Amino acid sequence: MRLILIPLLVAATLQTVPAQRVCYKCKDEGFVACKKKDHDGKRTCGKWKFEHKCSSLLAAPCCRGTLQVHCERCNDPVAEAKIMERLERRAAWVKQQRDLLGRAGIKGVTIETKDFRLHFMIPRWNAAEARLTRNRASHLFAYRLQKTADRFQEICGALPGSRQTLTLCKDAKENLSFTLNHMGGGYQVPFRRSSGSGLVCTWPIPQQPWDLKNDQNMHSHVVHLGTHLLHWASLRFHMQTVVWLDVGLAHWMELDQTEQTRNFCFNEGAAKNLWMDGDWKKKIYSEAGSKSEVKFASLLTKKNLDQTDHRDHAYAWSFVDYLVAAHPEKFKKFFRDMKLHNDTKKALDRVFNVSTASFHDQWRKWVRKNYAPN
Ligand SMILES: [Zn+2]
Ligand SMILES: [Zn+2]
Ligand SMILES: [Zn+2]
Ligand SMILES: [Zn+2]
Repeated sequence: MRLILIPLLVAATLQTVPAQRVCYKCKDEGFVACKKKDHDGKRTCGKWKFEHKCSSLLAAPCCRGTLQVHCERCNDPVAEAKIMERLERRAAWVKQQRDLLGRAGIKGVTIETKDFRLHFMIPRWNAAEARLTRNRASHLFAYRLQKTADRFQEICGALPGSRQTLTLCKDAKENLSFTLNHMGGGYQVPFRRSSGSGLVCTWPIPQQPWDLKNDQNMHSHVVHLGTHLLHWASLRFHMQTVVWLDVGLAHWMELDQTEQTRNFCFNEGAAKNLWMDGDWKKKIYSEAGSKSEVKFASLLTKKNLDQTDHRDHAYAWSFVDYLVAAHPEKFKKFFRDMKLHNDTKKALDRVFNVSTASFHDQWRKWVRKNYAPN
């Protein structure tokens, strides 16, 4: 058909008075709307509206989610070639994601939002209102992650230059397979949190300290992990960021997005602790009242997570809380300085012109005013 049409088209353009050729089906666009249901965003993507690429939509055999198919009436070869090229690019993306998971011997779907790539392997998921298929659940979590990134940018004024990757495995066994195949760094056991490259991987573990089969807890957990990724990779990548800021931001975002914090940092095992419940304002308020609070200067001496305890995490959260609430614009500058130079004292001096001691006093005053029970 095309072989005949091309010479005809060439002949038509050679005529001195080219007839206005209008295809009534596609108005000369060369494509028409796809009428099949395979690509239906409502069906495959659920109710969460956000810009994304997903393997369920991009694998739709009809149009791969482009919603365009070649117009068979006018059969324009240029339009057809353009459509084919787009479809092939989408097919390649789906294949690449499938191969990646296939190498680890696992089945799942991949979603890319503006700032995150999520590999999702959990077959079914109980959210607050409904039992979700893997496909729907993956969209829910991708949406939550992107909201975290949007909020992060709002408060920190920065985002990583490339997408951060989070993997939600079905169980510990699958997590191990993924760890060995993808995380690198010579890990021999399921590595829950992160690798040197800044990927994170986790699974819905039902045991203590918090049940991660619970949707709300997993939501908090994913927001927390996602925030670590955003923090490490913004402006300049390094995982050895200052502990109080890394921890404080992750908890701050959890409370902001899910109204609870589940203390999911590396060192927070099953040990019960008074500070585990996330009800931090009250405790910090009263400690600051009796001057028995954790000093900011002492938080600065903690060089890694193992040196911190639950109470330190609460205070790290509160220092971030103070900065974001009382100095939103300066906090962005401060964040930038911290990421570029990794030095709290210098950043405080450069951006706020204060010493750590007077910073602590200002924070204390603010806490007495703002955490007061009403
Ligand atoms: Zn989708
Ligand atoms: Zn279609
Ligand atoms: Zn047409
Ligand atoms: Zn953490």
